[in-house]
This record gives sequence, C-alpha cells and structure tokens, in this order.
Amino acid sequence: MTETRSADKTRQLPPILEAKDISASYGAYKALFGVTISLPGSPGTEGSSLALVGPNGAGKTTLLRVISGLLRPTAGSVKLKSKEITSTSAWQRARMLLVHVPEEKAIFSSLSVSENIELRVKEILPHGRAIQAIDEVYDRFPKLSERRKQVAGTLSGGEQRLLALAPLFVIKPEVVLVDELSLGLSPGVLADMYEVLKRLRSQGTSMIIVDQSEERATSFAGSAVSLEKGRIASA
Ligand code: ATP
Repeated sequence: MTETRSADKTRQLPPILEAKDISASYGAYKALFGVTISLPGSPGTEGSSLALVGPNGAGKTTLLRVISGLLRPTAGSVKLKSKEITSTSAWQRARMLLVHVPEEKAIFSSLSVSENIELRVKEILPHGRAIQAIDEVYDRFPKLSERRKQVAGTLSGGEQRLLALAPLFVIKPEVVLVDELSLGLSPGVLADMYEVLKRLRSQGTSMIIVDQSEERATSFAGSAVSLEKGRIASA
C-alpha cells in the first residue's frame, strides 16, 4: 500500500520545465510551429535530462533561446517549476537558476579566465555568497585556477567549454540548457565534458542537451525529443 502510494507520487511529479505550444519567428521567417517539450521533475537527488535532437536548421537553438528568454515566442508559454515565466527577462530567468550555455559566445573571449568566472557567478549568486563561490570553482577546477590571468580566447576549445561549465557547480542551477557541446571538440575532450555534465546532473541540476550526435546525446540523457523543420518529429 505504502509502495503504491510512493510510486504514484513519483508519477505525479510536475515537470521541472515545460515549454508549451511554442511558436517563434525571426522577422517574417517562422522557425517553430507549436512545439511542446517538458523536462520531468526528478524524484531523487539527481537531476533529470533530455536530449534535443534533429538536423541543422530544425529549430533546436531557437527553442533553447525561447526557454532561456533570449527570444520572445509569438505563441506559447514557458513554465519553470510550475511558475509561468513567459514574460520574464533572460536576466531574471538566470537568477531563477534557469541557465543557458549557448553554442557561441558562452564566454567573453577578450576577458581573462578569472573575469569570466567572476562575471558569471556574480550575475547569478547574491553578492555575499559569490566571493566564496568563486574560490570553490578554483578548488574544483585547478586547471582554471592555474590560468586565472590568461585571456579566455587563447584557451583551447575544451578549456573554453570548461570555463563556461565550471561556474555552474557553485551556481547549482535548477535547469541548464547546453547547446552543441560537441562543437569543435576532439572525442577525448568531448568525453571529458560529458563527465563534467554527469557530475553536475548528479549534484541535482536538470538539463536539456543539444548535440550534433543524436546517439551521444540520447545515451547521455536517457530520452530525446526530435525536431524537424520547426515541429516535433518524434518523442
Ligand atoms: P543548427 O544545428 O544548424 O544550429 P538548429 O536546429 O539549432 O540548427 P536554429 O539555429 O534554431 O536550428 O534555426 C532554425 C531556423 O531559423 C533555421 O532555418 C535558421 O536559418 C533560422 N534562423 C536562426 N537564427 C536566425 C536569425 N537570427 N535570423 C533569421 N533566421 C534565423
């Protein structure tokens, strides 16, 4: 009896993130047509994950931009932990711990490693917590600590990705949107990045992952939604 009740409870967990009937355009060009996806709530301490896959131009980046607030949808709604956030700014969504790691411009190339980490942490965490949190980033990632003064644009592709992901360990987002993690990375470095994401997920962060490889993203996330020409192809 108790077992049944706890199983029911798990099934009834509301999604941590829901994008419903989303349409979006760039000027006259329609990129998304009534797309709905949801990221399930997680019953345990580990975050949930979902792969967003589909061919080039399918609308994956556009959907992430709508979810993070960088692009206003022409129709539809976005909810984070059952709270309607469709009209909330991208900046406020980041403060609500809905964090976007875009395919490009995830870091400031002309700033140093330490300036990048400080900006990201201070943008999201309250001032009192930020200083200690920045030290924690360096404790966790000694490679970045050694390179504090280096200009971020001169780091390798893998190090730049690490720089974009490392602050998330102290920000502890509810949800992270990771766009094209694989871009320009060697297989070995990419495997390391997926390990970083696994650690983040095991710490409780839920995530939506876009990757050029459907197989790799699905094997990491456990489930996938496929977009094609701005519509859901299969779920
Ligand atoms: P890719 O893997 O190539 O990035 P994607 O699935 O992420 O593909 P989007 O980048 O979301 O696809 O693009 C969806 C459609 O919207 C494409 O046809 C693209 O050309 C168009 N598009 C994207 N950004 C813009 C923009 N800023 N202005 C006009 N059209 C755009």
